[in-house]
Amino acid sequence: MSTVAAYAAPAPKAPLERTTIERRAVGAHDVLIDIKFAGICHSDIHQVNEGWGEAIFPMVPGHEIAGVVTEVGSEVTRYTVGDRVGVGCFVDSCRECDYCLRGLEQHCVKGNTQTYNAVDKFGDVTYGGYSKQIVVDENYAVRIPDSLPLDVAAPLLCAGITLYSPLKNWNVGPGKKVAIVGLGGLGHMGVKIAAALGAEVTVLSQSLRKKDDGLKLGAHDYRATNDPATFSELAGTFDVIVSTVSAPLDFTAYIGLLKTEGVLVNVGAPEEPVSVNMFGLIVGRRMLAGSMIGGIAETQEMLDFCAEHGLGAEIELINADEINVAYERVQSSDVRYRFVIDTATI
Ligand code: NAP
Ligand code: ZN
Repeated sequence: MSTVAAYAAPAPKAPLERTTIERRAVGAHDVLIDIKFAGICHSDIHQVNEGWGEAIFPMVPGHEIAGVVTEVGSEVTRYTVGDRVGVGCFVDSCRECDYCLRGLEQHCVKGNTQTYNAVDKFGDVTYGGYSKQIVVDENYAVRIPDSLPLDVAAPLLCAGITLYSPLKNWNVGPGKKVAIVGLGGLGHMGVKIAAALGAEVTVLSQSLRKKDDGLKLGAHDYRATNDPATFSELAGTFDVIVSTVSAPLDFTAYIGLLKTEGVLVNVGAPEEPVSVNMFGLIVGRRMLAGSMIGGIAETQEMLDFCAEHGLGAEIELINADEINVAYERVQSSDVRYRFVIDTATI
């Protein structure tokens, strides 16, 4: 066991503060990672606020982790000291079920072990990336290619894979019209990745406030959803729409923007249920789907894809004592486009 500095929320909705946590000793299959950067995902805020239900406190959030291996267990084969690695949203799974065997560990039938706000197979509470070190089984770490700086790579471990996976699954590429709803942490990576895949990309944002940024990120069109004309002008346009919105949305209106047999993939995780008019799906055989992060192999594939295309997140690097201000700003959609904590300041 070792004692490690971290930032934790001591109770639901409470501001995060500096504390210490215990990390397990490095086991035979484990790597010890010096965390350099940790992204702030809106999921961290949902969980600190218990917006998705009861959570475990104190909570050290953070599942966009980038760092360097400083120690390896006796049986480790994939990594050596000095390797640049990332850890995403889960740190273990059963490794036996159909989904684990197919590389879809995020859908493990026994439930994967989340990087924080969970209890692992040793019976210990997991603590995330807002800390200086983490001990992880080597099979749940991924390699960060040398050409990707660690700070802009960190958000790829959640925001990047959460958009890459559905875009690949629904065959986004040349000739496909794609809309990304919400230009935040997830959304801006969706624009970059969909454009790199060769699709024609439209951003659907609440206003035109970030239009210049959206076009620079690779979008071909940028429309405001506070303008009703957007929904009439773009009716029946898109093959794929990915919604990254963290709040309840009028999905019926967005379904109307799909072509026949188009799919609206929701990755945003609002705290409230939403209602949908089924006629929007029946007419035009349209589909409404969800998607959750991606498996380990696909996360590695995404990192390699991002390295090949020179894609990192657009980040605002912050010190640890700015986390609570960053949370406020994320909640008011004032983020361009991911806050990343410099863990040297913890
Ligand atoms: P974020 O940075 O806050 O981005 C969300 C964006 O949604 C905002 O920037 C804003 O974009 C738009 N938005 C916010 N409130 C809205 C409202 N009331 N109406 C319409 N649009 C609104 O959050 P994030 O980190 O990208 O995460 C987004 C959501 O995905 C969260 O719910 C998070 O928990 C979830 N998530 C899911 C997965 C998964 O595996 N499925 C993984 C990670 C995160 P504009 O200003 O451009 O409108
Ligand atoms: Zn996340």
